[in-house]
Amino acid sequence: MIEKLALIGIGLIGSSIARGARQAGLAKTIAIATRREETLDEARELGLGDIYTTDAAEAVEGADLVILCSPVGTYEALARRIGPHLKPGAILSDVGSVKEHVVNVVGPHVPEGVHFVPGHPLAGTEHSGPAAGFAALFKNRWCVLTPPEGTDPEAVDKLAAFWRGLGSNVETMPAGHHDLVLAITSHVPHLVAYNIVGTVDDLEHATKSEVIKFSASGFRDFTRIAASDPVMWRDVFLTNRDAVLEMLGRFLEDLSVLQRAVRVGDGEALEELFTRTRAVRRSIIEAGQETAAPDFGRPHENGTSS
Ligand code: NAP
Repeated sequence: MIEKLALIGIGLIGSSIARGARQAGLAKTIAIATRREETLDEARELGLGDIYTTDAAEAVEGADLVILCSPVGTYEALARRIGPHLKPGAILSDVGSVKEHVVNVVGPHVPEGVHFVPGHPLAGTEHSGPAAGFAALFKNRWCVLTPPEGTDPEAVDKLAAFWRGLGSNVETMPAGHHDLVLAITSHVPHLVAYNIVGTVDDLEHATKSEVIKFSASGFRDFTRIAASDPVMWRDVFLTNRDAVLEMLGRFLEDLSVLQRAVRVGDGEALEELFTRTRAVRRSIIEAGQETAAPDFGRPHENGTSS
């Protein structure tokens, strides 16, 4: 059990950690810091912690585990602010969706004797804010830790145990590798979704209303991730540029191949790809990363999800 946990930022991810930690008895005291008074009031009303402040430095005072849960673009200034107030022996972590950038901007502000272990829970929804969180968000989801070389293994184990306590499976890898993997599994898919929804939004009015009306035929599923938080995703693309461009390049090459197959009517190539992609979907379900329920588990009128 952690004596004092400090969460800086109390939106979807921060409030889910607070709820999960409370439910599993992982921390005696939870201190919450956020930027705006309104958000702090909301967190207080929801009973997410024990100490509430708009000063991150005050929240981390005496904390054994500090987790940055705000948008990645705020990390550098926050690290500069809290650095001198971190307790020797404390673990400083984060939940940011990119890792190399975090190591570069936070690392220099971590004082001697404080263990810096960046992390990224691969869990989320398209909702934001303190009320959006729930304790089970991390259950059976991966949490990737990217400790810089030379990090005390005991600190890594302690943080891994914390995430396991929240229900996550934990994996450790270098920050750069994390960024490449996430570029293709998360960042490029979001960019594609933002793009296709943006294209529709630019269509002339009559066509657009038809797209909305008939969206259940495929478009709807892109709109879920294209509704994700704009600030968070702006920061992802500003801070994982190289890996995203690398994966986007490969994506565009493959798209050109598909475009050609459509143009020349190469049914064999199309069917071969669609058969392979169907198998990928099956393996995701088998790995417990998605429901096998029809219509992606959406409830229907008869109360079932089929
Ligand atoms: P969110 O719901 O929008 O919450 C962000 C929180 O950060 C809010 O409480 C906000 O409070 C606070 N904040 C903003 N600027 C701040 C500052 N300068 N100092 C202190 N607090 C500040 O976002 P989220 O979805 O929880 O995402 C937070 C982090 O989790 C991001 O780094 C993101 O990369 C990572 N992440 C997100 C997901 C996901 O699917 N959403 C998944 C994995 C990881 P105010 O209202 O006071 O500004």
